[in-house]
Amino acid sequence: MLTEIPTSDDFEVVGMQLLNVAWDAAATLVCDFDMLDYREVEKDPKNSAYWKAAKIQLSTGLTIAQQGSEFLLKARIAKAGVHFLLGVGKNKCTQEYTRKSRAFSEFRTVDAQDLIKIYRAVCDESLDNEFAQAYERLRRQRNSLIHSAGSRLSILASDLMCIVLSINQHLGREENWVKVRRDYLHSTPVALMNPETYADYRLVGEFGAVRDLLTSAQIKTYFAFDKRRRNYLCPCCVFGGVYGYDEREPRTAMLEPNKHDSETVWCFVCDETQNVERIACASLECKGNVLSYEWGRCLTCGTEASCASVPRPRS
Ligand SMILES: [Zn+2]
Ligand SMILES: [Zn+2]
Repeated sequence: MLTEIPTSDDFEVVGMQLLNVAWDAAATLVCDFDMLDYREVEKDPKNSAYWKAAKIQLSTGLTIAQQGSEFLLKARIAKAGVHFLLGVGKNKCTQEYTRKSRAFSEFRTVDAQDLIKIYRAVCDESLDNEFAQAYERLRRQRNSLIHSAGSRLSILASDLMCIVLSINQHLGREENWVKVRRDYLHSTPVALMNPETYADYRLVGEFGAVRDLLTSAQIKTYFAFDKRRRNYLCPCCVFGGVYGYDEREPRTAMLEPNKHDSETVWCFVCDETQNVERIACASLECKGNVLSYEWGRCLTCGTEASCASVPRPRS
């Protein structure tokens, strides 16, 4: 008899935690870099020492992301039947079930290289071909890292982030990665000791830096946010939350709908839509004309609206 059988949810919980740990490896490097006041400069040769020193964190993150994808594939397969994950022959397996009680973990499970094949044989939902190929590439990269300590594999923080985002998009239950991160950050040890501020502060700083780091196309694909449009400080995240206005100015909001006289902004981090006033900023250096209704601040430069001089016409 087979005992201690894991459920699909068990596999999924571990898979999502691994994805978060992999993302942490990249996000922490990006946030630290951001604290040093560097942005959008991942490929600049003068910063190569920083990223060279980060190779071990990023390589480890890649192996963890790959493990995460395995768990998430297993979660889908287990939903169809957990016995599909057992790597022993069917007859032998049946004999061993009946002979005595054996824990699931005592059996050999299927190889990672067979998961896509098994998924396609037993799961109803189809799996994107491009993703299947990316999974195979990732598995080989992981093997190369594990089996040759001096691997020449070089991975950027943005590459690792996109790997995690793609795995979550294809295999995660919650497609919105910001929501996944919010829940995860609120459950981390440091957040449990400091529940009021840590997770929300980190979330805004992290995605402000991610918005700067990833390309417009990547941000659009994974966060439905258009960074080619004029982006603004989010009143809720920056002025209304724990983040506070600082020189890093996370620009995570945009006018929605995208019209010249639009009176609301939407933020991809807090997912809030908020009213704005369309009057000129008080600062003469600022061309902004989108001010927070509630906080009385310019969402381009952060200047207080109470300092306003003569309103300029709408641009
Ligand atoms: Zn926000
Ligand atoms: Zn301004």
